[in-house]
Amino acid sequence: MRYSHLFGKTRKTAPHDADSANARLLVQGGFVDQTMAGVYSWLPLGLRVLRKVENIVREEMNAIGGQELLLPALQPKENWQKTGRWDKVDVLFKLKSQTGKEYALGPTHEEIITPLVGAFVQSYKDLPVALFQIQTKFRDELRAKSGVLRGREFGMKDLYSFHRNVEELNAYYPTVMRAYNEIFTRCGLDIRVTEASGGTFTKKRSHEFHVLTEAGEDRLVLCSSCSFAENEEIAKVAIKDPCPQCGGKLLGLKGIEAGNIFDLGTFFSDAFDLAFTDAEGARRRVVMGCYGLGTTRLVGALVEANYDERGIRWPKSVAPYDAHLVSLAGKKGTAVADAAEQLTRELEARGVEVLWDDRPEVSAGEKFADADLIGIPLRLVISEKTLAKESVEWKQRTADETHLEPLTAVAEKTVSWLNR
Ligand code: ATP
Ligand code: MG
Repeated sequence: MRYSHLFGKTRKTAPHDADSANARLLVQGGFVDQTMAGVYSWLPLGLRVLRKVENIVREEMNAIGGQELLLPALQPKENWQKTGRWDKVDVLFKLKSQTGKEYALGPTHEEIITPLVGAFVQSYKDLPVALFQIQTKFRDELRAKSGVLRGREFGMKDLYSFHRNVEELNAYYPTVMRAYNEIFTRCGLDIRVTEASGGTFTKKRSHEFHVLTEAGEDRLVLCSSCSFAENEEIAKVAIKDPCPQCGGKLLGLKGIEAGNIFDLGTFFSDAFDLAFTDAEGARRRVVMGCYGLGTTRLVGALVEANYDERGIRWPKSVAPYDAHLVSLAGKKGTAVADAAEQLTRELEARGVEVLWDDRPEVSAGEKFADADLIGIPLRLVISEKTLAKESVEWKQRTADETHLEPLTAVAEKTVSWLNR
């Protein structure tokens, strides 16, 4: 991709209301544009990152037997009345049609998926089943803040699982926890899992997955030597106590809740009479689990966990492009531009995604500043100087030093550096 053609360029000034690193850097880098508080347009560069995150999530959900579907955002009021949540969920967006009929804009999808599963599941042979969606959700948040971390319109993956009994759900729940750990590891994020209260509608088991960063809204109490962590809101331990798991030292840190998974029991299957016939011919309620993960919030959390004073430092797995090629053409001839175009082709032929800053009128300093702001993990520079040595300058976003690589070998080296 030629940077000169890319829609959505870097911006020199930060948005005046940016209250966090992701709000500032995602806008300045040309990843998103704020339409209004809590609502963003995803520009081509930002959408590439979001799609990569979504694909990692999708692959891990497929790997544990999840089947993807797409559910409506516009939802009937009656379904929300059936669960008693029409009046209880404070962040529910409610709409009135010109006909007077009322709707909800889906903040979550239990009210849709439970009756949907009821239409297809009759016997114990139809269970278990796990279904997921990756789509836009709406919440009337009192205060949208921290860029894409708390929006009124945002992306979420929700997985719902349906089981014949509690034991079957109990066996599946840790499988999802492992898949979540795999997702965060692949995104290059350090996370802590806390056990949480199940919210208003179920007092059952629930776990939160927190990305540790100062930008987080949640205060955690966690152990410096083992995996123990609790949300301070509900913590049974005090920071001065020894770790209840290993006796180690406890710390207070902040976390961004990127995922939250729940044992729903039969709350929703009771509301919608979701039942099946067991092997003995008896009717029994379906037992449910639900597993949320904020995909757009995760993009924000990735920025909060990976930036410096110059810009973003995307992990390789979610970067919008693999390599940022900068050509610094001199006054005479087109040798530099030709070599850059040739290298772009060579890299792309090997499956490397390249953003080529081909702008002829822009200074080296400005191009380097843009490369640092955008944060692609590898920067390659071709100039008359490097061409004279038949080489390319190599610089990783997370390192300060540069060195030269032979022009003929750099594509191959890039592929192996990317672990492809
Ligand atoms: P929070 O406590 O942050 O308000 P929640 O507990 O209400 O979130 P869940 O219902 O558990 O959120 O939703 C699952 C996931 O969706 C969250 O873990 C988070 O990653 C994401 N999410 C929830 N609300 C928002 C929002 N307003 N903007 C962006 N992502 C969100
Ligand atoms: Mg939650």
